[in-house]
Formats: sequence, C-alpha cells, structure tokens
Amino acid sequence: MGLLLKIFIPLLGLALAFYFYSAPENFNEEMLRGKRVIVTGASSGIGEQMAYHLARMEAHLLLTARTEAKLQKVVKRCLELGAASARYVSGSMEDTTFPEVVVKEAENTWGGLDMLILNHIGYTYFNYFNGDVGHIRKLLEINFLSYVAMTTSALPMLKESEGSVVVISSTAGKTGAPFSAPYSATKFALDGFFSSLRHEFIIDKVNVSITLCILGYIDTENAVRAVSHAIQDTPAPKEECALEIIKSGVLRRRELHYPSQAVGSLLLLRDIAPNFLDSLIRSNYKVENIRR
Ligand code: NAP
Repeated sequence: MGLLLKIFIPLLGLALAFYFYSAPENFNEEMLRGKRVIVTGASSGIGEQMAYHLARMEAHLLLTARTEAKLQKVVKRCLELGAASARYVSGSMEDTTFPEVVVKEAENTWGGLDMLILNHIGYTYFNYFNGDVGHIRKLLEINFLSYVAMTTSALPMLKESEGSVVVISSTAGKTGAPFSAPYSATKFALDGFFSSLRHEFIIDKVNVSITLCILGYIDTENAVRAVSHAIQDTPAPKEECALEIIKSGVLRRRELHYPSQAVGSLLLLRDIAPNFLDSLIRSNYKVENIRR
C-alpha cells in the first residue's frame, strides 16, 4: 500500500502538472499584422469576436456565414477597428460546393492564405436523441465535412505560406454529455480527422500547423439561449475565448483548452476516472427542465 502510494502520488502530480501546464506566453499581436485569414461562422458569437480581434491586429479578413446583413455589419466594424482589408462571402456550408467557393475567393483576392479558422456550426436541438438520422447526416455535412473540404481546398496555399488550420471543437468532442448526441458526434469526428492529419503532416514534413480548440461553455447568445435552462455552470466570456483561439493558432499549439482549468480537469478525469466524470456531468444538468 505504502509503495503504491509512493508511486501513485508523484504520478498524479506529474499528470496534474501536465494537464494544467501552459507554455510561456510569447504571443505578440504583430504576428497577425498583414496575415490573410479566413474565419467561418463569423456573423455572430465567437467567430464575430475573432474577426474583431484580428481586425485590431491589422490582418486581412475573409468572413463567411449565411446571413449577409450580419456579415456586412461585422465587415464594417472590422474596417473601423483597423483591419488591413475585410470582405465576406455568404452561403451555407450545407451546400457541398460552398467550402471551395470560399477558399477560391481567398485565392482570387489574396493569391494565398496564412490561417484558416473553422468555427461555424449548424443548428441542432438540445434534447434526448429523437431518432432523426437525416438530421445527423446534415449536421455532419455542416460541422464536419465542410471543415474537411475547406482544409483540402486551402492546403496548397497553406503549404506555400507554412500556415495554420484552427479547428473549433468542444468538450462535447472529447467526452459524451447528454442531450447533444448529434452535435457531439460531429465534434468527435473533427478530433479523429484532424489529429490523424496532424500526424501525416509531421511524417510528410508539411509545415502546416493544426490547432484543435476544446471549448467549455461560452457566453454566446445562441449557446446561452440553447442550454442555460438546463446547465448550472457560468459561461466564460466569448471575447477572451476568441483571443485565446487566435493566440493558440498563431503559436501553432496542438490543442487549446479554454477555460483551461475546467477543460483540463474534465480531460484528466476522463482518463483516470471516466465513470466518476460521467456521474459528475449528469449531476450538472437540470434534467427536469428538458422537455421531450
Ligand atoms: P454561434 O454564435 O451560434 O455562431 C455560429 C456561426 O455559424 C454563425 O456565424 C452562423 O451564422 C454560422 N452558421 C450557422 N449555420 C451555418 C451554415 N449552415 N453554414 C454556414 N455557417 C453557418 O456559435 P458560437 O457559440 O459562437 O460557437 C462557435 C464555435 O464554438 C462552434 O464551433 C461551437 O461548436 C464552438 N463551441 C461553442 C461553445 C459555446 O458554449 N458557445 C462551447 C463549445 C464549443 P449564420 O446563422 O448567419 O449562418
């Protein structure tokens, strides 16, 4: 027993240090000056906030989402904030031709690309799985396959610039949680695809970084509207979240965990005590507020 504790405690300490360790900050806003960046899902929420940070850092921006009127407003604000240039393409990622349209727009406008930030998500329900397989198929198209398609189209430009792909995922893409089966499936798919691709890039000496962003609950209008009646947590601020995503992308980090302690603890528990984590997750939901 004593010997076991002697081995276990340092190991636990090491594991905790590993999970909570964050590399020394060496981010500098000038790293983004003049960079050519695509942000998807930029008409609201975290994507909109990323656009504003990047504008202040004087990047060139190409924004996309479905709602043209919102994108026009975001572009206008980006130009006021100091973007080197800002434009948009509107359309739905449910349309399988649209990912390539967006990347072509970057190619025609800039002749290259430094950073591809994949952030958009399609609408889904927050409730018990309703058996609608068609909905999952559609959500996979928007939340997963369009990410793959955009990366594929953008890769020649990203190879040339030795650029970065930033993929926005969620704790729901690392561990299951109730009432989000379709969404969770699409986010797990992102981890599988992009983590595999990262290996291949390293083996192949392709100098394009892939940063997978694992986000907890963030205070965007859509997220709060969808889940606040059933989740006890306080959401983290979208402005800070957006900045952390940009930092981790430009620093070419493997993963971002934001908010770091909440996501870090969750991932640690997932690995060392998965059943305990599952019961903690379930206890965090006000199940009585979920109406079938
Ligand atoms: P949001 O405010 O709902 O924004 C979603 C964006 O995607 C909007 O710009 C929306 O604009 C666009 N969009 C929706 N359907 C689309 C479609 N069919 N084709 C193209 N674009 C579409 O979301 P958010 O809360 O900022 O989340 C941003 C990212 O963070 C997502 O990847 C999400 O999974 C991740 N995340 C968020 C949270 C959170 O608590 N907020 C937690 C974990 C992870 P239009 O409606 O104009 O198309």
